[in-house]
Amino acid sequence: MRIGLYPGTFDPITLGHTDIIRRACALVDRLVIGVAINTGKGPLFSLEERVAMVEAECAKLSAETGTEIVAHPFQNLLIDCAHDVGAQIIIRGLRAVTDFEYEYQMVGMNRAMDDSVETVFLMAEARYQAIASKLVKEIAKLGGDVSNFVPADVQEKLLAKIG
Ligand code: ADP
Repeated sequence: MRIGLYPGTFDPITLGHTDIIRRACALVDRLVIGVAINTGKGPLFSLEERVAMVEAECAKLSAETGTEIVAHPFQNLLIDCAHDVGAQIIIRGLRAVTDFEYEYQMVGMNRAMDDSVETVFLMAEARYQAIASKLVKEIAKLGGDVSNFVPADVQEKLLAKIG
């Protein structure tokens, strides 16, 4: 059974993330969405809220793709989280070159800890490539329309949160 781990902060989950999840489903039998506690990033949504939004979107994606998708909050090292969930593959999304430097280092460090876990990079469809949770939150705070960037349920939660 091929298990993939797709880690991130998901603050909140965007259409960029869901596009990557849909693509990852074609590669694995079970996809675990690792929701990082990541208090250092100062998330807008609590861990519980982020997990609930991920679970709601994944239920739809699971029905659509036929792949089992589960959310798994984690606070430890990514490679240890991969071991915890039995993942042989770590999935990451790549946006522009800006993501590359950081991801390059991550792969190197993770490989040094466990060379048997492979990292696979996926690119979202062109119209979703520029989406970043950080920018979505800024746009929403300034009263902009984020309906092209996040699922409808997430947009609702975002507007309720921002007030
Ligand atoms: P963000 O950087 O938007 O806050 P996360 O930290 O939750 O998102 O990112 C989790 C993973 O999803 C990372 O591998 C990130 O590069 C990837 N990702 C996020 N948004 C996109 C997107 N629009 N296209 C491709 N990959 C993405």
